[in-house]
Amino acid sequence: MPEPAQPGWYSHELCHWHDPGAGSGYVPVGPGVEPLRQFAVDPDLRRAEGLVRASGVLDLFTTVTPTPATDADLLLVHTRAHIDRVEATSALGAGDAGVYAHVNHHSARAARLAAGACAQAAEAVLAGRFSRAYCVVRPPGHHAEPDRAMALCLYNNVAIAAQAARRAGASRVLVLDWDVHHGNGIQRAFYDSPDVLYVSIHQDGLFPPASGSVRETGNGAGLGTTLNVPLPPGSGHEAYLAALERVVEPAARAFQPDLILVAAGVDASAHDPMGRMMCTSRTLHAMTALMCALADDLTGGRIVFAHEGGYSAWYQPTLVLATAAAIAGLPAPEDPFLHSLEHLPGQRAQPHQTRVLDHLRAHHPLLAAR
Ligand SMILES: [Zn+2]
Repeated sequence: MPEPAQPGWYSHELCHWHDPGAGSGYVPVGPGVEPLRQFAVDPDLRRAEGLVRASGVLDLFTTVTPTPATDADLLLVHTRAHIDRVEATSALGAGDAGVYAHVNHHSARAARLAAGACAQAAEAVLAGRFSRAYCVVRPPGHHAEPDRAMALCLYNNVAIAAQAARRAGASRVLVLDWDVHHGNGIQRAFYDSPDVLYVSIHQDGLFPPASGSVRETGNGAGLGTTLNVPLPPGSGHEAYLAALERVVEPAARAFQPDLILVAAGVDASAHDPMGRMMCTSRTLHAMTALMCALADDLTGGRIVFAHEGGYSAWYQPTLVLATAAAIAGLPAPEDPFLHSLEHLPGQRAQPHQTRVLDHLRAHHPLLAAR
C-alpha cells in the first residue's frame, strides 16, 4: 500500500502585503478615528504561520506556492464589473473596492492568490494529490458577493473553490463556515443551487445585519441547501461541538458530498475583539478533527480548510496551529492562553444556545424529514 499523501499547505508571501491602509480596528482613518492599524493587517497571519513552522507541525504538510486565480476562475462566482473594480482600485494604490473593502497596490494580486490557492487546493485534493489541505491566505472571502467586495473580502475564496471543484468533476460540495460572522457571499452564490450545501455557524445577528437566519434555507432547486445555525453571543466549546454533532453531521450525511470545504475563520474565539463567542484552541482542534473524520466517512477524506477572519493578534497563531495540528492528525497543541478561558461557565452548552439546534432538527428541510 502506498503511504497516504501528506496534507497540502497553501500560502503566499504576497497575501501578507495586502493592507487596507491607515485606520483603527476596522474603520479607516477619518473624522474621530485616530490612526492605529486596521485589523487583519498582517504581521498577525504571518506570525500564525511562523508558530506552525516553529512547532514543527508545518513539516507534516507539503507546502505549495499557489498561482493567482485566472479571470476564468474568478468569473465562476463574480461579475466582470466586480473584478474590474477590484483591479482598478488596487491599481490606484488605495480606496474602497466595495463596502468596507479597502485595498493597497498589492491587494488585487493578493486576492487572486488567495482565491487561486483555495481553488487549486480543492482541485489537488479531488485529484488525490493531497489527503487534505489548509489554505492560510488573505484577504478573506466569505462576505464577498458575486457583484461586490464587502467587509475586508475582495473575492470569495471558498465559493470559487467550490465552483472550481464542480468544474473538476465534483457533483456535490458541502461548504461549512464557522467564522463568527455570517458568510453572506457564499450563501448568495449558491442560494439557488442544489449542488452546494452551505452551512454556517455564526453569532446570531452579528454581521451582516439581518443575514443568516434559520428561515434562509435556499430557493427553488436549492431549497434545503442553505442551513444557518445562528448561535447566541456567549456560546462556547460545548455549544459549537453540539452544533457540529447535532446539525452539521446529519446534514452532511443527508447531502452526501464528494468534497468538503471549510471556511475556517478563527474569530469565534473568546479573545477575538470582533465577536462575542467563547471558543478556544481546543474547540478549533475538536471541530477540525470532527470534520476530517466526517470527510473520511463521506468523501474519501477529501476536505479543504481555508482561513477567513481572525482578529486577536495574540491568540490567532495558537488557533491556526490548533487547526493545522488536527488536519495533520496530531493531538491538540499546547495552549498557553487556555487557562484563562476553559474554566469559564460559558464553555458549557446552555439551553438558550442549543434551542436553535432543536429547531433546525425539527424544521429544516434537509433534517426534518429524517
Ligand atoms: Zn469573521
